[in-house]
Amino acid sequence: MSSVPTITLNNGVTIPQLGFGVFQIEPADTPEAVRTALEIGYRHIDTAEMYGNEAEVGQAIADSSVPRDEIFVTSKLNNGFHDPADAAKAIDESLAKLGLDSLDLFLIHWPMPEVGDYLETWKAMERMLAEGKARAIGVSNFTPTHLRRLAEAGTETPAVNQVEVHPYFVQDEVRTYCAEHGIAVEAWSPIAQGDVLGDDTISAIADDLGRTTAQVTLRWHVQRGDIIFPKSVTPSRVKENFELFDFELTDEQMTRITGLDRTDGRRGPDPDEMNMVP
Ligand code: NDP
Repeated sequence: MSSVPTITLNNGVTIPQLGFGVFQIEPADTPEAVRTALEIGYRHIDTAEMYGNEAEVGQAIADSSVPRDEIFVTSKLNNGFHDPADAAKAIDESLAKLGLDSLDLFLIHWPMPEVGDYLETWKAMERMLAEGKARAIGVSNFTPTHLRRLAEAGTETPAVNQVEVHPYFVQDEVRTYCAEHGIAVEAWSPIAQGDVLGDDTISAIADDLGRTTAQVTLRWHVQRGDIIFPKSVTPSRVKENFELFDFELTDEQMTRITGLDRTDGRRGPDPDEMNMVP
């Protein structure tokens, strides 16, 4: 099987383009799920304080025979901790729960424009980077408006923006902004939590290629250059989702999948409206 490609972020740090997401994995199930992923060959784990399973992710990494420096670990600043002093404490708590000295990537989980000033939070993230608490910093669920505000303030350019992207919500506007500004895109809910897997167009392409609809969808992301980390607690699916690098979609197949975009394609919250604090 071909190996997972890496993407070089704007500060030179490299990240495996395919990782394993742990949103909605119960803490009790997390060590086993992460162990399975590492055994299959995943070397990139995407967690968050909000997911309530950082400690269990850390336990799986500690128990694994894979060296720590071969695993790319991302976590995220939860919504209640945007105040700079709270943010500084929050990364220390995430590191303690994960049992790590530093994160590979730390993200502001949501911009929360109605709750606080994400520009000040971003400046706190810059300090964490300078202190070596994370090798790279980025944002999640930022729109071009939010990103432009950081740029106009002359701050460090985020290394990544992690946003909802899948065939029903292709997010061309934010992806174009990111491409023009050297920000890597991470596509969350890459198979729309399963919603795209019964799609007729994707099914026809999957039949032609002798692949599953999940593999075709994930391969579409890979060829668009986005970073993905599908979640599954089912070992056969974790393996299936890893087998993306020995086939290709044609330009015509790529275009057909991108054409599935819908105006009502969003599945998760709208970043401009998200104001949920834990
Ligand atoms: P996904 O699009 O990865 O879908 C996960 C769902 O699809 C699960 O129900 C899983 O079932 C099922 N599934 C996975 N693989 C297959 C397959 N091959 N065939 C059939 N069904 C499959 O959704 P997520 O929302 O989990 O997104 C992935 C990751 O993105 C998250 O884990 C998290 O790390 C990140 N994320 C970030 C957000 C943010 O705001 N920054 C928001 C949401 C997600 P099962 O587990 O039962 O096998």
